[in-house]
Amino acid sequence: MKKLFVIFGLFFFTFLSASAIENLEDVGIAKYAVIEAKRDYTPLRIAPDESARRFSHIRKGFVLYADKQNDDFYRIDLGLDEPFWLEKKYDDVQAVISEKRIQKIDEIEFDEDKEKYKIFIPLYIQNAYSFKELPDGLEFSLYDVNCDNLEIKNKRGSFNVIPSKKSVLTIKYISPALFGYDVVPHKKGLVLEVRKIPKINRKKPLKGIKIALDAGHGGEEKGVCAFGVEEKDVNLKISKQISKALKKRGAKVYMTRKKDKYVPLYDRIAFAQEKNADILLSIHQNSLPNPKEVVNKHGVGVYYYNKQAYNLASNLQQSLLKQTKFRDDGVNYASFALTRPTNPVSVLVECGYLIDKNEMQQLTNKKFQKEFAKAFTKGVEDYLRYLVVF
Ligand SMILES: [Zn+2]
Repeated sequence: MKKLFVIFGLFFFTFLSASAIENLEDVGIAKYAVIEAKRDYTPLRIAPDESARRFSHIRKGFVLYADKQNDDFYRIDLGLDEPFWLEKKYDDVQAVISEKRIQKIDEIEFDEDKEKYKIFIPLYIQNAYSFKELPDGLEFSLYDVNCDNLEIKNKRGSFNVIPSKKSVLTIKYISPALFGYDVVPHKKGLVLEVRKIPKINRKKPLKGIKIALDAGHGGEEKGVCAFGVEEKDVNLKISKQISKALKKRGAKVYMTRKKDKYVPLYDRIAFAQEKNADILLSIHQNSLPNPKEVVNKHGVGVYYYNKQAYNLASNLQQSLLKQTKFRDDGVNYASFALTRPTNPVSVLVECGYLIDKNEMQQLTNKKFQKEFAKAFTKGVEDYLRYLVVF
C-alpha cells in the first residue's frame, strides 16, 4: 500500500503543471487528467451544460478521470457508453496520467446497526460512483475498479453484489421502498450506507422519528419580500409551530436555525446528516419573477428530487391543500440544494406565495400557522404510516 502512494506522489509532482493543458488529446503522454472533487456533492452531468441532468453527485475528495475538456467542462470517462461532464469551476486537475488507475478490490465487508446497513469498500483512491433508484430498490455503481477475486464478508440484508462488469462494481439493494442512502467517505475507502425502513407504529407514526427542520434563508438572506413582510421571518415562525406539532406527536426535531441568522445551504444538509435525521424538511414562501402573474400562479406546493421522496411530498401536499384551501401549486420535481440529498429523505415546501395578499395575510397569522403546522404534521404521519405498502 505504501509503495503505491509513493508512485502516485511521483506522478503528482511530475505533472503538477497540468492546469496549463489546453487539449488533453494533444498531449502525447497524457490520456487522462486526474481530478479531485473539491466540494461535497459535486455534480456530474450528462451534457456539458450547467442545466443538464445530474448523473451523480461526487463527495469531496473523490477522484474522476477526464479524457477531454472544453472551456468550462471536463469530459469524464467512467467506462460506460456515454461520457459525463464536470464543471471546471468546482475542481482542479491534480495530475495527468497515461492510464486510468483501475483499483483492485479483494473484499468488501457488510455491517449494520439499528438504523443502517453499512458496506465498507477499501480503496486507496476514492473513485466515482452513482446511484440509481429502481422500482424494487436501489443500484449503487462504483467505477474504475477490478473485482475479479472479490470476497464478500458478513453479508446481510437483501443485497446482490455484481462485481466488475467493464470495471464497475454494482451493488443492488432489494427493497419495496427506500428511506435514505448515501456514500460516506472513509479514510481507507468509502462506506455505502442504506437506511433501513423503520418499524412504524401506525397509531403514532412519528414516535422516535428524527426530523431535521429547515427554516429557509435567514440573516442577510431575506428571501422574498412583499407587503413589508420578509420570507425568512415567516419561515422561522411557521417552522417553530411545525416543530412543536411534530414533537407533540413523538418526533425528535432538529432545527437548522432557531434565530434570524444566515446558514449556508450545504451546512444545513451537513447538520441534518450529523443529527442522523430520517427526514429533512425545508420551509419556504414562494414568489414569481413577475409578481403580476400571481393571479394565475399561487398556492401551496411541495418539491422533491429523488423518487424516494415523492410519497412524502405528495402526502404533505394532500394534507396541506385540505387545511389551507389554497390553490394546488403541485407536487413538483425540482433540483434544489435542499431537495437533492439522498440521506435524509428530503423535500422542500413552499407554504404559499408571499406576493399573494390573501396567502400572505394567512401565512403571517399565528392561528393559521398553528393549523398549518398540524396539517403539515399529519402529512408526514400519513407518509410514514404507509412507508411500505404490501
Ligand atoms: Zn425561499
